[in-house]
Amino acid sequence: MKKRNPKVIDPDFKKHIEGVLAEVKNSLFELHDTAIRDEKTKLYNHRFFKNVFEMELEKAKREMQNLSLIIVDIDFFKKFNDSYGHLVGDDVLVELAKVLQKTVRKYDIPSRFGGEEFFVLLPETNIAKAKKVAERLRLSLPKNTLLKKYNVQISLGVTEYKKLDTQKRMINRADKALYISKKNGRNQTNIL
Ligand code: GH3
Ligand code: MG
Ligand code: MG
Repeated sequence: MKKRNPKVIDPDFKKHIEGVLAEVKNSLFELHDTAIRDEKTKLYNHRFFKNVFEMELEKAKREMQNLSLIIVDIDFFKKFNDSYGHLVGDDVLVELAKVLQKTVRKYDIPSRFGGEEFFVLLPETNIAKAKKVAERLRLSLPKNTLLKKYNVQISLGVTEYKKLDTQKRMINRADKALYISKKNGRNQTNIL
């Protein structure tokens, strides 16, 4: 019988093990993505966003850096669903997410916070710059074929980190700014 040298790995066996490891690695990446992303839009989900928000708040506090938050809400989306159906509504969410992803900068964190509401966290960004990003997003919607076809519009609320702020306080302030945008006729950005 041929004697095996334990120090020499059979090339076929090595190839097999490498294949198995590559599959495990891919599955882990997929699993991680599923855990942190919203299924419909593939943007970061609520849970992941809150975790990142906490870390960025700590950094803003510790290093006295700027941090801004944008809340985006689609105008009259209930009416939109009633007129064109939920499936077209879903397509709108997907297309808006794409525009959002394309518009924000590399270090910004866009997410689907829930329903038709999107949050964007902007590290090292003051409120004036964040407002510019918000307006760029609002005005770029018609560049997307589907959003243009249905004249989809959004309202936005923007705020920035202030001393002793918590996530809740920042979200409440951005929400109030968004409410002003809605009350003043929608399709606009306000800051607070
Ligand atoms: P406003 O301009 O004041 O924001 O009016 P609105 O109708 O957009 O606001 P409201 O919060 O009353 O309605 C939100 C709608 O978003 C209701 C809900 O059916 C729709 N929506 C939430 N999540 C989804 C989703 O995943 N897919 C679709 N198609 N619609 C959704
Ligand atoms: Mg809403
Ligand atoms: Mg809405």
